[in-house]
Amino acid sequence: MKKIKSTLVLLSLAGVITALTVVTGNTLSTRNEKKMALQTNQAILQKPTPSPTPTKKPLPQKTPLPSPSVSPTPQMTPSPTPTPVTVMLPAVGSEVVGEYSADSFVFQATYGDYRIHSGIDFADDKNTPVCAVADGIITQNFYDFEHGYTVEIEHGDNLKSIYKNLSSDKMVQVGQVVKQGEVIGGMGDSGISESHLSHHLHFELHKDGEAVNPREYFEASITQ
Ligand SMILES: [Zn+2]
Repeated sequence: MKKIKSTLVLLSLAGVITALTVVTGNTLSTRNEKKMALQTNQAILQKPTPSPTPTKKPLPQKTPLPSPSVSPTPQMTPSPTPTPVTVMLPAVGSEVVGEYSADSFVFQATYGDYRIHSGIDFADDKNTPVCAVADGIITQNFYDFEHGYTVEIEHGDNLKSIYKNLSSDKMVQVGQVVKQGEVIGGMGDSGISESHLSHHLHFELHKDGEAVNPREYFEASITQ
């Protein structure tokens, strides 16, 4: 008990000392600080405190409605793309003496008038070999007075090559399968329609039943 009492006494003494320290600690500097604090407060009071701008509450984000899922249009199963036919020249090294001209008339010396020219003419010596421009099957082999001996080859992909003014119809038969570069005839002068030219091949290329410019196919095959 004595110990507790003395402790209490000590504690109360310590309290008094602390209190005294606090009181005596109210020094000049503390006063100055208080003064400055007052001035600051006055300054603050003089300044109109800016009213806090009302912060706009962010609008609740609208969760985007899920767009109605458009069911993808069913893709047509693509039909197997036919391999483009590579076309070579029917008479390599022979001179071109008549160009394809489907859109404008060109003078035709045999008839002495202007008409379209649906093929390319290659001129060379008689019986200069004429080759199949691509793999195919012989579908026509006939003679007519105007165009002479004529051979037609189907190549697939709706592409057909026609060789007119040949020297003979004995080189191939209808139904025969030919390879690209295979000789199917020789240059002749069997037709009268282009008799102003000497021995030559009148060559046509038909795509989807229409005559097309063979050069476009030759060039395409060259760039491949
Ligand atoms: Zn011609």
